[in-house]
Amino acid sequence: MPSVAASGAVKYICKVKLDCTTRLHSNSWLTTTKYSIGDMYRQLSEQHAKTNWFHFVWNRFTIIPKHRVILWLALQDRLKTKARLFPYGVTDNDLCALCGLHTENSSHLFFSCHYNTECCRKVLHWLGFSTHRTSLFMILKWAHRYCVGGFRRKVCYADVAGVVYQICKARNSAIWDAMVPSLDSSVSCIQFAVRHRIKSILGKKVSARDRD
Ligand SMILES: [Zn+2]
Repeated sequence: MPSVAASGAVKYICKVKLDCTTRLHSNSWLTTTKYSIGDMYRQLSEQHAKTNWFHFVWNRFTIIPKHRVILWLALQDRLKTKARLFPYGVTDNDLCALCGLHTENSSHLFFSCHYNTECCRKVLHWLGFSTHRTSLFMILKWAHRYCVGGFRRKVCYADVAGVVYQICKARNSAIWDAMVPSLDSSVSCIQFAVRHRIKSILGKKVSARDRD
C-alpha cells in the first residue's frame, strides 16, 4: 500500500499492482523470475468464445462496403455508442437517441429498441422472412439455420447489414440533426437499397416478391 505522502504516480502503480493481483487471484506474478508482458496481457485478457461471424459480414451480396464495416463493428460491439462515450464525458447522457428510454449500447440498438425492432421486422417481413429473435447475432444465426438455400440466406445477411446501417444513420441523425427519421422512411431507404443490390447482382430488375 502506498503511504499517504506518496506521489500520484506511485499511488497509481500500487493500484495497478493490486488490480492485477485481484484479477489473477495470486501475487506470484510479483516474484516470478521470468516476467513477460505478453504472458501478463494474455492472462489478464478476458477469454471470449470464438464466433464465426465472418461469413455474415464478408458476404458478396453485401455490396456496399460501409454496410459491411458497420455490421462488422456492431457484431464485435465496437460501435461508439453513448454507453461507451458517456463515461468519458463525450455525451451528456447515455440514453438511446432514438427512444430516449434505455441505455444506448449495442444490444439495445440491435434489436431491443422498439424503433429498431420494428424496422428490422418490417424489412424482413417485406422480404418474406419472419423471426422473433431480438439480438443481432441470433438473427444472423437464425438466417444461417433456417433460410433455405444459399441465395435466400445471403440476401437475408445483406438485408440485416442494411438494417444495421440504416439504424446507425437514424441514430446519428437523432444526435446531430435532432431529428429521428420516420420508421417508414427508414424502411423505404432499406427497400431501395435492397432493390438496387439485387438488380446489381442479377443484372436485371427483380422484386423481392418475384424472387420468392
Ligand atoms: Zn432505444
